[in-house]
Amino acid sequence: MKTIGLIGGMSWESSAHYYAAINRETARRLGGLHSAPLIMHSVDFAPIAELQSAGQWDEAGRQLNAVALALEAAGAEVLGLATNTMHVVADTLLAGVSIPFVHIADPTAEALLADGYDTVGLLGTRFTMEMDFYKDRLRARGLNPLIPEVGRTNLNGIIYEELCRGVVREPSRTIYVDAITQLAARGAQAVILGCTEIGMLIDDASSPLPTYDTTDLHARALVAAALG
Ligand code: GLU
Repeated sequence: MKTIGLIGGMSWESSAHYYAAINRETARRLGGLHSAPLIMHSVDFAPIAELQSAGQWDEAGRQLNAVALALEAAGAEVLGLATNTMHVVADTLLAGVSIPFVHIADPTAEALLADGYDTVGLLGTRFTMEMDFYKDRLRARGLNPLIPEVGRTNLNGIIYEELCRGVVREPSRTIYVDAITQLAARGAQAVILGCTEIGMLIDDASSPLPTYDTTDLHARALVAAALG
Protein backbone atom coordinates (compact mmCIF):
# COMPACT_ATOMS: atom_id res chain seq x y z
CA MET A 1 0.00 0.00 0.00
CA LYS A 2 1.28 3.45 -0.89
CA THR A 3 1.76 6.10 1.78
CA ILE A 4 -1.09 8.63 1.93
CA GLY A 5 -0.20 12.28 2.51
CA LEU A 6 -3.08 14.20 4.07
CA ILE A 7 -3.25 17.99 4.45
CA GLY A 8 -5.41 18.39 7.53
CA GLY A 9 -6.34 20.76 10.30
CA MET A 10 -9.15 22.52 8.42
CA SER A 11 -10.57 21.80 10.86
CA TRP A 12 -8.82 19.26 13.09
CA GLU A 13 -12.28 17.99 14.10
CA SER A 14 -12.86 16.62 10.61
CA SER A 15 -9.22 15.51 10.25
CA ALA A 16 -9.80 13.22 13.24
CA HIS A 17 -12.71 11.66 11.32
CA TYR A 18 -10.48 11.26 8.26
CA TYR A 19 -7.84 9.50 10.32
CA ALA A 20 -10.39 7.01 11.64
CA ALA A 21 -12.13 6.54 8.28
CA ILE A 22 -8.88 5.94 6.35
CA ASN A 23 -7.69 3.36 8.86
CA ARG A 24 -11.10 1.65 9.11
CA GLU A 25 -11.32 1.36 5.33
CA THR A 26 -7.76 0.01 5.16
CA ALA A 27 -8.60 -2.62 7.78
CA ARG A 28 -11.83 -3.49 5.95
CA ARG A 29 -9.96 -4.00 2.68
CA LEU A 30 -6.79 -5.67 3.92
CA GLY A 31 -8.08 -7.37 7.08
CA GLY A 32 -6.27 -8.30 10.26
CA LEU A 33 -4.19 -5.62 11.91
CA HIS A 34 -3.68 -3.61 8.74
CA SER A 35 -3.80 0.17 9.04
CA ALA A 36 -2.86 2.91 6.62
CA PRO A 37 0.66 4.21 6.06
CA LEU A 38 -0.26 7.86 6.46
CA ILE A 39 1.51 11.19 6.98
CA MET A 40 -0.78 14.01 8.05
CA HIS A 41 0.37 17.60 8.07
CA SER A 42 -2.18 19.38 10.25
CA VAL A 43 -2.08 23.15 9.80
CA ASP A 44 -3.18 25.89 12.20
CA PHE A 45 -6.64 26.70 10.85
CA ALA A 46 -6.96 30.23 12.31
CA PRO A 47 -4.60 31.98 9.86
CA ILE A 48 -6.05 29.98 6.95
CA ALA A 49 -9.60 31.01 7.94
CA GLU A 50 -8.42 34.65 8.09
CA LEU A 51 -7.04 34.39 4.55
CA GLN A 52 -10.39 32.90 3.43
CA SER A 53 -12.35 35.78 4.97
CA ALA A 54 -9.99 38.31 3.39
CA GLY A 55 -10.29 36.62 -0.01
CA GLN A 56 -6.51 36.06 -0.06
CA TRP A 57 -6.77 32.74 -1.87
CA ASP A 58 -3.40 33.03 -3.64
CA GLU A 59 -1.56 33.32 -0.33
CA ALA A 60 -3.54 30.42 1.13
CA GLY A 61 -2.72 28.36 -1.96
CA ARG A 62 0.98 29.16 -1.63
CA GLN A 63 0.98 28.08 2.02
CA LEU A 64 -0.79 24.81 1.22
CA ASN A 65 1.55 24.24 -1.74
CA ALA A 66 4.49 24.32 0.70
CA VAL A 67 2.70 21.71 2.82
CA ALA A 68 2.00 19.50 -0.21
CA LEU A 69 5.65 19.65 -1.31
CA ALA A 70 6.78 18.83 2.23
CA LEU A 71 4.48 15.79 2.34
CA GLU A 72 5.85 14.55 -0.97
CA ALA A 73 9.43 15.09 0.25
CA ALA A 74 8.54 13.16 3.43
CA GLY A 75 7.53 10.13 1.37
CA ALA A 76 3.82 10.58 0.63
CA GLU A 77 2.84 8.81 -2.60
CA VAL A 78 -0.84 9.82 -2.82
CA LEU A 79 -2.12 13.24 -1.74
CA GLY A 80 -5.42 14.39 -0.20
CA LEU A 81 -6.65 17.77 1.04
CA ALA A 82 -9.05 17.23 3.94
CA THR A 83 -11.43 20.12 3.27
CA ASN A 84 -13.84 20.85 0.45
CA THR A 85 -13.42 24.62 0.61
CA MET A 86 -9.69 24.74 0.13
CA HIS A 87 -9.99 22.79 -3.13
CA VAL A 88 -10.64 26.28 -4.51
CA VAL A 89 -6.82 26.63 -4.52
CA ALA A 90 -6.13 23.12 -5.83
CA ASP A 91 -4.18 24.37 -8.85
CA THR A 92 -1.82 26.52 -6.77
CA LEU A 93 -1.52 23.80 -4.15
CA LEU A 94 -0.40 21.29 -6.77
CA ALA A 95 2.32 23.40 -8.41
CA GLY A 96 5.43 21.24 -8.64
CA VAL A 97 3.74 18.27 -6.95
CA SER A 98 4.22 15.03 -8.86
CA ILE A 99 2.29 12.50 -6.73
CA PRO A 100 -1.37 11.82 -7.63
CA PHE A 101 -3.99 14.06 -5.99
CA VAL A 102 -7.45 12.72 -5.12
CA HIS A 103 -9.90 15.62 -5.55
CA ILE A 104 -12.69 15.40 -2.97
CA ALA A 105 -15.47 16.17 -5.49
CA ASP A 106 -14.56 13.23 -7.75
CA PRO A 107 -15.42 10.24 -5.50
CA THR A 108 -18.47 12.23 -4.38
CA ALA A 109 -19.70 12.63 -7.95
CA GLU A 110 -18.93 9.00 -8.74
CA ALA A 111 -20.95 7.75 -5.75
CA LEU A 112 -23.96 9.88 -6.71
CA LEU A 113 -23.84 8.81 -10.36
CA ALA A 114 -23.43 5.16 -9.38
CA ASP A 115 -26.64 5.47 -7.36
CA GLY A 116 -28.45 7.02 -10.32
CA TYR A 117 -28.79 10.60 -9.06
CA ASP A 118 -28.24 13.73 -11.10
CA THR A 119 -29.95 16.63 -9.32
CA VAL A 120 -28.25 16.99 -5.95
CA GLY A 121 -28.25 19.45 -3.08
CA LEU A 122 -24.89 20.90 -2.08
CA LEU A 123 -24.32 22.08 1.49
CA GLY A 124 -21.00 23.51 2.65
CA THR A 125 -19.28 26.75 3.49
CA ARG A 126 -20.48 29.81 1.65
CA PHE A 127 -17.33 29.54 -0.48
CA THR A 128 -18.16 26.00 -1.58
CA MET A 129 -21.82 26.84 -2.16
CA GLU A 130 -21.40 30.22 -3.86
CA MET A 131 -18.11 30.07 -5.78
CA ASP A 132 -17.97 28.00 -8.97
CA PHE A 133 -14.97 25.72 -8.39
CA TYR A 134 -16.92 22.92 -6.73
CA LYS A 135 -20.20 23.11 -8.64
CA ASP A 136 -18.30 23.23 -11.94
CA ARG A 137 -16.40 20.07 -11.01
CA LEU A 138 -19.74 18.34 -10.31
CA ARG A 139 -21.30 19.69 -13.51
CA ALA A 140 -18.35 18.38 -15.51
CA ARG A 141 -19.33 14.92 -14.27
CA GLY A 142 -22.94 15.40 -15.42
CA LEU A 143 -24.50 16.44 -12.11
CA ASN A 144 -26.87 19.35 -11.52
CA PRO A 145 -25.99 20.83 -8.11
CA LEU A 146 -28.51 22.98 -6.22
CA ILE A 147 -27.55 25.23 -3.31
CA PRO A 148 -29.95 26.70 -0.75
CA GLU A 149 -31.71 29.86 -1.95
CA VAL A 150 -31.86 31.30 1.57
CA GLY A 151 -30.01 30.85 4.86
CA ARG A 152 -26.54 30.26 3.44
CA THR A 153 -24.90 32.68 5.90
CA ASN A 154 -26.42 30.77 8.80
CA LEU A 155 -25.36 27.38 7.41
CA ASN A 156 -21.83 28.76 6.93
CA GLY A 157 -21.75 30.20 10.45
CA ILE A 158 -22.69 26.87 11.99
CA ILE A 159 -19.62 25.32 10.34
CA TYR A 160 -17.10 27.90 11.57
CA GLU A 161 -18.64 28.87 14.92
CA GLU A 162 -19.76 25.41 16.02
CA LEU A 163 -18.69 22.30 14.08
CA CYS A 164 -15.04 23.37 13.57
CA ARG A 165 -14.92 23.91 17.35
CA GLY A 166 -16.47 20.54 18.18
CA VAL A 167 -19.87 21.98 19.10
CA VAL A 168 -22.91 20.00 17.90
CA ARG A 169 -26.26 21.63 18.68
CA GLU A 170 -29.78 20.34 18.10
CA PRO A 171 -31.10 23.73 16.83
CA SER A 172 -28.35 23.74 14.21
CA ARG A 173 -29.28 20.23 13.13
CA THR A 174 -32.83 21.50 12.61
CA ILE A 175 -31.53 24.36 10.44
CA TYR A 176 -29.63 21.87 8.26
CA VAL A 177 -32.62 19.50 8.04
CA ASP A 178 -34.83 22.43 6.99
CA ALA A 179 -32.33 23.39 4.28
CA ILE A 180 -32.31 19.81 2.97
CA THR A 181 -36.13 19.74 3.01
CA GLN A 182 -36.18 22.89 0.86
CA LEU A 183 -33.62 21.41 -1.56
CA ALA A 184 -35.80 18.30 -1.86
CA ALA A 185 -38.82 20.49 -2.65
CA ARG A 186 -36.79 22.03 -5.53
CA GLY A 187 -36.00 18.61 -6.97
CA ALA A 188 -32.82 17.45 -5.21
CA GLN A 189 -32.72 13.67 -5.06
CA ALA A 190 -29.81 13.46 -2.63
CA VAL A 191 -27.62 15.86 -0.66
CA ILE A 192 -23.85 16.31 -0.64
CA LEU A 193 -22.46 17.02 2.81
CA GLY A 194 -19.93 19.24 1.06
CA CYS A 195 -18.03 20.31 4.11
CA THR A 196 -15.97 17.80 6.01
CA GLU A 197 -17.58 18.69 9.37
CA ILE A 198 -21.27 18.38 8.38
CA GLY A 199 -21.21 14.63 9.05
CA MET A 200 -20.89 15.54 12.75
CA LEU A 201 -24.40 17.02 12.51
CA ILE A 202 -26.30 15.21 9.76
CA ASP A 203 -26.52 11.59 8.69
CA ASP A 204 -28.96 9.43 6.75
CA ALA A 205 -31.12 8.98 9.86
CA SER A 206 -31.61 12.73 10.40
CA SER A 207 -31.70 13.80 6.74
CA PRO A 208 -34.84 13.87 4.59
CA LEU A 209 -32.64 12.99 1.56
CA PRO A 210 -29.91 10.35 1.18
CA THR A 211 -26.60 11.89 2.30
CA TYR A 212 -23.23 11.76 0.56
CA ASP A 213 -20.62 12.54 3.20
CA THR A 214 -17.52 13.92 1.50
CA THR A 215 -15.28 13.01 4.45
CA ASP A 216 -16.11 9.31 4.20
CA LEU A 217 -16.16 9.20 0.40
CA HIS A 218 -12.83 11.02 0.16
CA ALA A 219 -11.21 8.83 2.84
CA ARG A 220 -12.30 5.68 1.00
CA ALA A 221 -11.07 7.06 -2.33
CA LEU A 222 -7.66 7.85 -0.81
CA VAL A 223 -7.37 4.26 0.40
CA ALA A 224 -8.40 2.98 -3.03
CA ALA A 225 -5.76 5.18 -4.67
CA ALA A 226 -3.12 4.02 -2.19
CA LEU A 227 -3.99 0.38 -2.89
CA GLY A 228 -4.42 0.85 -6.62
N1 GLU B 1 -13.86 21.60 6.46
C1 GLU B 1 -14.66 22.50 5.76
C2 GLU B 1 -14.84 22.12 4.32
O1 GLU B 1 -14.83 20.95 4.01
C3 GLU B 1 -14.62 23.93 6.07
C4 GLU B 1 -13.36 24.46 6.66
C5 GLU B 1 -12.56 25.15 5.61
O2 GLU B 1 -12.94 26.24 5.25
O3 GLU B 1 -11.60 24.58 5.13
O4 GLU B 1 -15.06 22.94 3.46
